[in-house]
Amino acid sequence: MTAFSLGSLLYEGKAKRVFATDQPDRVAVEFKDDATAFNAQKRASLAGKGACNCLISALIFEVLERRGIATHYLGLAEERWMVVRPVQVVPLEVVVRNIAAGSLCRQLPITEGTALEPPLLDLYYKDDGLGDPFLSEARLERLGVVNPDQRQAIGEMALAVNLGLRDLFGSVDLELVDFKIELGFASDGSLLLADEISPDTCRLWDRRQSDSSDRILDKDRFRQDLGGVMEAYGEVLKRVQGVCPEPRVYG
Ligand code: 5GP
Repeated sequence: MTAFSLGSLLYEGKAKRVFATDQPDRVAVEFKDDATAFNAQKRASLAGKGACNCLISALIFEVLERRGIATHYLGLAEERWMVVRPVQVVPLEVVVRNIAAGSLCRQLPITEGTALEPPLLDLYYKDDGLGDPFLSEARLERLGVVNPDQRQAIGEMALAVNLGLRDLFGSVDLELVDFKIELGFASDGSLLLADEISPDTCRLWDRRQSDSSDRILDKDRFRQDLGGVMEAYGEVLKRVQGVCPEPRVYG
């Protein structure tokens, strides 16, 4: 590493590792090539996925930052690495759905592909052991992981992210079906968009393809054994790079 030295491993998740650095209020995130689905019951290693998702996330964080959305992202380091502000992660998976797909269609009689206007905001409790259960507003209040003001700020940020992502992906013929974000509180108490935004966390359908399988350019290719996972992720990266400036390097 150039602008900083790595410290101890702070956290290891399914797709990322987070390390302390020698700088205050800075941590380094390594994007792994590991792919998991169905609560890690399905696993694989996909060469190049970490680098691809790191770059896509960096470009997207910069797009969202320019739209006034506060993120944890500070800059890229080496391939597969970015430097971010540490946050106290809110144990919620915040999902926004523009088009019905995935669990929504498994759980409710809604046909895949149905437009959802206004978009649906679904909150899940982030706990692999419990299978990330869906939260009603009453359950969220009972859980007490966020107060009402924080709940409101999370909803507003999720919808602002949705608008930013829809504009970005729409400009390169990608339909943003749905996505999951995670948020956290920085040391000064501010709410930051955290984690990553990539084809691992978004459903993206290619508007240039009409076939219902060929159009999938996201983790559903891995979940559904459709093949061509890295080709799809690479296509998303290429299109996003085509409309974004080079991401900044940290330090
Ligand atoms: P669904 O509720 O249909 O499983 O997922 C909705 C959206 O959130 C999809 O874009 C999906 O990729 C994303 N998502 C939901 N849960 C997770 C998760 O635990 N990990 C990742 N990477 N994405 C998730």
